[in-house]
Amino acid sequence: THDIHIIGGGLAGSEAAWQLAQAGHRVRLSEMRGSGVMTPAHQTDGLAELVCSNSFRSDDAERNAVGLLHQEMRDLGSLIMGKGDEHKVPAGSALAVDRDAFSQSVTAALESHPNISIVRERVDSIPESGLTIIATGPLTAESLAGSIAGATGKDQLAFFDAIAPIVHFDSIDMSVAWKQSRWNKGAESSEDGDYINCPMNKEQYVAFVQGLLDGEKTEFREWENVPYFDGCMPIEVMAERGIDTLRHGPMKPVGLDNPHDRTPEYPQGRWPYAAVQLRQDNASGTLWNIVGFQTKLKYGAQVALFRTIPGLENAEFARLGGLHRNTFIKSPELLDPTLRLKSAPHVRFAGQITGCEGYVESAAIGLMAGRFAAAELAGETLSPPPVETALGALLHHITGGAEASTYQPMNVNFGLFPPVTGKGRTKKADRKLLYTGRARDAFAQWMPAA
Ligand code: FAD
Repeated sequence: THDIHIIGGGLAGSEAAWQLAQAGHRVRLSEMRGSGVMTPAHQTDGLAELVCSNSFRSDDAERNAVGLLHQEMRDLGSLIMGKGDEHKVPAGSALAVDRDAFSQSVTAALESHPNISIVRERVDSIPESGLTIIATGPLTAESLAGSIAGATGKDQLAFFDAIAPIVHFDSIDMSVAWKQSRWNKGAESSEDGDYINCPMNKEQYVAFVQGLLDGEKTEFREWENVPYFDGCMPIEVMAERGIDTLRHGPMKPVGLDNPHDRTPEYPQGRWPYAAVQLRQDNASGTLWNIVGFQTKLKYGAQVALFRTIPGLENAEFARLGGLHRNTFIKSPELLDPTLRLKSAPHVRFAGQITGCEGYVESAAIGLMAGRFAAAELAGETLSPPPVETALGALLHHITGGAEASTYQPMNVNFGLFPPVTGKGRTKKADRKLLYTGRARDAFAQWMPAA
């Protein structure tokens, strides 16, 4: 007998199990590895296995959003952070861990907990009743993915992410770029359009296309070899089809009057030769994605090439483009603020399957799913952490802050927080301190309720 069933013993499921068990609730934790089934990326039967790098990224809680998230999780008794700290290896200001020792110690802590029973089994459908947390990750087994698609609707579940790069608004040079919807559609005036446009002349465009063709690409692993479908073809594949393909596709300049290029003949501004468009990516307007720019270019090549786009010379990227196998649901539409599936509230989702990205973020959402469920079992309600905190900002993004139609997995970053109102042009480094200082105050006020 158990109080709650957690499916998936990765970063999120392990953390959720720990939080619930520590609160006195009996947990059944189902993990398919160890029952003769593997994922394409895992190598061991250990819980919370790190499938790729061994880094939890920056541990700087003063100036880095993921460092701040580390701190908040430690304050809430996180198992993943506790074991990460115990098995850390030197990595400058980052927190890197000995992956085997880390996974073994998480497994041992959960195995020896009196409130947890670990069952090595693959679960093939969403349980019809009983409190459940689904934390089966980016490589969720197909059978269960099918059951999730059945419960949420097929178009609500993605099997891989085609990510266009996302840029911090305050790093875009608006003396070169401008806001306008094509043909001013839906806008009162040309100054309040939904897109940010970056103009290119012919020479810049030709060089850019060449840069796409020449840039170093990452290769798909065999299991990632999925066919492209419309709307997520990598930009370099489009470039291969001909010099004008992009100018007729995502870089189409028609209907875009560049106000920085006005002539007597074109008092509204001339259309550029080609244009790169950015679309707002979060409600507060701090993040903008480059439309149609999903790519397999290596990260270094992306930064170098995308900074040749006029207006993006100093662009800071909240995330770079990519194409990966990744199972995730459209959480902003499907989940309530405490991670429950609106259509079946006995089920919570946690980890990367909610559309967060990264080991730490996955564990963080597991932690919150565990705490929300523990409160529910105790007949209490736990309000989500304030959106000024790292946990709150990430959770808010997942459960409603992000635009659902273009939802793609996201790391924690300051662009998810409400903008700080620094006086005048506060230096970038100081602004980070304003974010983390405000977060600490907000967290301290909320924490006793958790
Ligand atoms: P997981 O850690 O994958 O845990 C899910 C668990 O559920 C697995 O143990 C799986 O065996 C189990 N499971 C799946 N289906 C079922 C089922 N039906 N029944 C029972 N159990 C099931 N993030 C980083 O921060 N750094 C990286 O370097 C990094 N590299 C990555 C590389 C790859 C190839 C992938 C796919 C992802 C990578 N990520 C990385 C992203 C992400 O942080 C990790 O995938 C992270 O492990 C996600 O945590 P999770 O708990 O959501 O899922």
